[in-house]
Amino acid sequence: MQDNLSDDRPSFVTHLECSETAERLPADKLAGLSAAGKPLLVRYDLAAVARALSRDKLRDRAPDMWRYREFLPVRRTENIVSLGETMTPLVAAPASAAAAGGSALMVKDEGRLPTGSFKSRGLCVAVSMAKELGLRRIAMPTAGNAGAALAAYCARAGIEAFVLVPDDAPETTISEIAIHGARVYRVDGNITELGPLVEAGREQASWFNLSTLKEPYRVEGKKTMGLELAEQGNWTLPDVIFYPTGGGTGIIGMWKAFAELEAIGWIGPERPRMVAVQSRTCAPIVRAFEEGTEGAVPWKGGHTNVPGLRVPWTVGDRLILRTIRESKGFAIAIDDGEVEPARAAMARADGIHVSPEGAATYVAYRKALAEGRIGTSDRAVLFNCASGLKYGMPPVTARLDRFRPIDYCALVR
Ligand SMILES: *Cc1c(COP(=O)(O)O)cnc(C)c1O
Repeated sequence: MQDNLSDDRPSFVTHLECSETAERLPADKLAGLSAAGKPLLVRYDLAAVARALSRDKLRDRAPDMWRYREFLPVRRTENIVSLGETMTPLVAAPASAAAAGGSALMVKDEGRLPTGSFKSRGLCVAVSMAKELGLRRIAMPTAGNAGAALAAYCARAGIEAFVLVPDDAPETTISEIAIHGARVYRVDGNITELGPLVEAGREQASWFNLSTLKEPYRVEGKKTMGLELAEQGNWTLPDVIFYPTGGGTGIIGMWKAFAELEAIGWIGPERPRMVAVQSRTCAPIVRAFEEGTEGAVPWKGGHTNVPGLRVPWTVGDRLILRTIRESKGFAIAIDDGEVEPARAAMARADGIHVSPEGAATYVAYRKALAEGRIGTSDRAVLFNCASGLKYGMPPVTARLDRFRPIDYCALVR
């Protein structure tokens, strides 16, 4: 096996492209949004990728994210900032499937990645590009996990990180951001409301704004989820993907991955139905999907018990909606109250301890089956985007007194 990080492989980036107007910008320069205020996407010379890499060649590489190097934008190996971005397993969840009335259910367990969430995929690539482009200060607003990944990769790269977190972000994650040495500040507001503060800091303190989709490289890291899923399925994709949707980089990234794989002939035109899962109390994408609009409007308030879903609006709204519709998928809202019971049910039934966001996808899967929106034999993948260990768990109160007689029969009853 060769080391994906020591072998100098070419990058095939040709330019950046506005996702709305197709306006072109040069690659290898700092970039935010396009002139139209929309996300920029990285474009590659895919014919050259196809000549440089084959599915067979890929098989011999180490099982980490950088095996897909030719699909990623970093030009020079020395700029890769890596903490060991392992491929994540697809874990079968047969008991959870049966309990929901389905049959073929897998969980893509992204909790195995550095900092315990899939945010490391995006931030690994974005911070590597920041290093390549000579950035010294990076800032972002975050619901939590993105900030933790940013802090870890910036620590590794020697770049200063400034992180703004809403008051309701999980305490564990706030501490995690701080332990990596990032400057982290609590702010009274939601992630969308914190955006303008980061913009102001960009102008006044030369922070680079690494907010979701406001620069082109995080989505490239998230794209590796789609590449990995295709490779793990021996270049066939599942029938349906349930994805807990906040900013939407994952849905957009996977869709981009599938298009690039088809362009080089590694997969056919078949696609999974992409299902965006949101909370009923913060569901801008679900509302827009149901109303049939091309974009979403900001959700008022937008608190939910599911931290990763606390995103009242995203600049990727149109890309997410386009993806869902092109895939013949749908957007579905779940009740917060069902999330923790579902998390416990999966942990008990299949031994898989998912995050609240992961549990939300299981609630959506169950609901979609019950409503006949997916078939009982559909091969479904749920994205567990973070380790369950990052979140609070129900307290345990049961106790044994070792100085008194213990009724063991009562314990096994
Ligand atoms: C960020 C995050 C999400 C939302 O992901 P997007 O790709 O931004 O939509 C979901 N779950 C968890 C645990 C997250 O950290």
